[in-house]
Amino acid sequence: MNVKIQEFSAILQAMDILQLSHYLDGLLDIRSIKDAPNAVNGLQVQNTGEIGKLGLAVDLCQATIDLAIEKKCNMMFVHHGIFWSGVQPIRGAYYDKLSAMMRANLGLYSAHIPLDMHPVLGNNRALADQIGLKHLEPFGEYGGENIGLKGTISPQSADSLGKLLQTKLNAAVKVIGSGEVASVGLVTGGAADILHQAKDEKLDCYITGEGAHHHFHEAIEGGCVLILAGHYATETGGVKAVGKHLAEKFNLETEFLDNPTGM
Ligand SMILES: [Zn+2]
Repeated sequence: MNVKIQEFSAILQAMDILQLSHYLDGLLDIRSIKDAPNAVNGLQVQNTGEIGKLGLAVDLCQATIDLAIEKKCNMMFVHHGIFWSGVQPIRGAYYDKLSAMMRANLGLYSAHIPLDMHPVLGNNRALADQIGLKHLEPFGEYGGENIGLKGTISPQSADSLGKLLQTKLNAAVKVIGSGEVASVGLVTGGAADILHQAKDEKLDCYITGEGAHHHFHEAIEGGCVLILAGHYATETGGVKAVGKHLAEKFNLETEFLDNPTGM
């Protein structure tokens, strides 16, 4: 490749935040997937100039903003955006986050449910692949849509499935119930309320991120093993997959900004 062609391809690859956001809106079907109003999927904070480096994180929080700035990112892609708490005065910790981003010219794009349920790049698909789930079908109705997956694994004890998850996710995993499991449903994040759907569909096991105290009894009495593999840990897969996709597609520099909450 001669110098002139190299320059031309560099021009083709340079993108600003509006162009990259437009691509992500289409990729993740942002406009047609329903979500909580405060998810505000899509471009959340604009900036100026070209995107040289994209930082990807599960949560938008002060720690990941600081990491993004330290790693010289000029755009972030996150699963949990900045508007979860709704309309509020821009002061205190909220001011600190917004002002740090704006002073550093750091843009922000967020994708919540659209990232959970993407068939190839989604959090649920990543988790399914990690446990070798086969014969995938949509599962886990939330707001009229199936956001998770169900399928089958080679029969194994609930305990060994828990250990596999612990190894794959490098996170603490809690297994509630016991026995052999082969049919599995999963919804990443904080979706233990969907446990009853797994029970109704007679699945052996349901995997999600985190639950409440009462889900223990619901699992034991319903005869469906409940595995809690961490809200954070179960939602890293999709974020990483999007980073890999953008790096390959646009030759964009990306970095996963890890800030595990242990929850
Ligand atoms: Zn979540």
